[in-house]
Amino acid sequence: MYYTNDTVLFVNGKFIPAREATTDLFSQTLHYGYGVFEGIRAYRSVNGTKIFKAKEHFERLAKSCALAGIPLNYHVEELIQASYQLLEKNNLSNAYIRPLVYCGPNMSLTAPKEVFVMITAWEWGKYLGDQLLNVCISSYQRPNPKSIKVEAKVCGHYVNSIMATNEARQRGFDEALMLDMEGRLAEGPGANFFFEKNGELVTPPLGNILPGITRHTVLEICHELDIPVEQRHATPEELFEADSAFFCGTAAEVVGIQSVESQAFPKPWKKTLGAIVQEAYQNLVLDKSYSYVIV
Ligand code: PMP
Repeated sequence: MYYTNDTVLFVNGKFIPAREATTDLFSQTLHYGYGVFEGIRAYRSVNGTKIFKAKEHFERLAKSCALAGIPLNYHVEELIQASYQLLEKNNLSNAYIRPLVYCGPNMSLTAPKEVFVMITAWEWGKYLGDQLLNVCISSYQRPNPKSIKVEAKVCGHYVNSIMATNEARQRGFDEALMLDMEGRLAEGPGANFFFEKNGELVTPPLGNILPGITRHTVLEICHELDIPVEQRHATPEELFEADSAFFCGTAAEVVGIQSVESQAFPKPWKKTLGAIVQEAYQNLVLDKSYSYVIV
């Protein structure tokens, strides 16, 4: 249930009931996936409702639009304000916020004449649940960054993510881990990826992955907590020798991985660097202090 009879949406500068919202079936976004979106979370923090990294998310939305060539006629600050108002109007505090920039009717493969902005929000649990995940290595690679703007969150890119997720579920796994076009570790269909080896975290560098805001937050947490972390390419073979691993993303937050292709990681999750990061992340989004002393 993403909306009820009472849900209010932000559509093109106005707050309207979801049941009255309409869209044109000839939208370029519907036919060609030519649109841009974001995924953001709000939390009931110790200081009231807080949209976590709101500026970073709306700046990425603006950047995605610029990279895709879709004009966005709003300032980041306006969209942040609209999101806070939206939460209030829907009486939401712990919520997932979904802004979508979509195009008007145009069946040609040309720049859009009309561009619209919609923001909605709903209560959503952790996207990949609370349990440790059994992950497979996807047969679907992440798209070639020379075919698309990999750093943009463009609607159509998510066909690749849906195919990978469906394949993983059909094979009986919880989630897919995707490789890049060179066969190196990349990311999940909707989350970035880290693994641990010998007391150090490793995550793929930017270039073939979405530059996740949670990934960036994890790097900040590691810096703060003196957890060594390296951004470098790694192979699936190296992963099979790793001690532990996790995914991170706005919707999934930080979620531990139990096994890859049915090979379990040797470290119990609670003893991993990922578990420390997971707790620090929860404290951070709730505005609690998260400093530890690692001995
Ligand atoms: N990779 C992909 C492909 C994603 O869709 C997401 C979710 N936006 C992420 C990584 C994680 O990004 P973020 O931490 O900004 O949510």
